[in-house]
Amino acid sequence: MTEQGMVVADWPAPANVHTLVTTRKGGISEAPYASFNVANHVGDTPLAVAGNRDLLREELPSRLSCQWLDQVHSAQVAVIEGAGSVITADGLVTREPDIGCCVLTADCLSVLFTNKEGTEIAVAHGGWRGLLGGILKNTIVALESPSDDLVVWLGPAIGPCHYEVGNKIKQEFLISCSSDDEREIINQSFLASEEEGKLRFDLRKLARQQLQLLGVNEIYGEESCTYCDESNFYSYRRDGVTGRMASIIYFTEVS
Ligand SMILES: [Zn+2]
Repeated sequence: MTEQGMVVADWPAPANVHTLVTTRKGGISEAPYASFNVANHVGDTPLAVAGNRDLLREELPSRLSCQWLDQVHSAQVAVIEGAGSVITADGLVTREPDIGCCVLTADCLSVLFTNKEGTEIAVAHGGWRGLLGGILKNTIVALESPSDDLVVWLGPAIGPCHYEVGNKIKQEFLISCSSDDEREIINQSFLASEEEGKLRFDLRKLARQQLQLLGVNEIYGEESCTYCDESNFYSYRRDGVTGRMASIIYFTEVS
């Protein structure tokens, strides 16, 4: 974690690829958004969000322009050549330097991608609907680099310790499967719960296994549970009305 309470991905990415994940630490938002909420859509005052985004900008190079998303739990991925107004999608790919590809989360998984040359990056918002719809596959398809040339980092997300879901979500995943391998990873990602009709869902494990099935070998990431770690992370499941963390990836020109 940086002095400002932000997380930098711990992964063997090329030296020109940079990441930053905000936590709830720092910033100026008041409860229940305390204190570093960077999302406009959650009911926080626009002034606080703008102030927090200014603080975030100070941690990033001035030439960087950030692309934000209107995330709708889709499997839609946008390939961008420049940053502009908010795009409705749940994944971003760019082959241009100095574009910050940003996603907002509070329990859902942020998934950061780079190729090994540091010339192509992506970010994806992975909640259960996105993983069900194929957001990770669509991101890999939108990337020109082959899967075995990719390095991936998984951000902080809710752990199976706190992610109880109804049985029918597992059934939806099973219906979507087209191979025994796919069915196997679904079976491994839903664990027994003490509560009748419920299962504990391991979002991170499912993402990791989906990526492996898609040919990605190098997968790193956080193991923190956003629900468990109240001092560092927002958690929608824990708090309902709450802020969002930003996960940002960008690369600079390879000289
Ligand atoms: Zn937990």
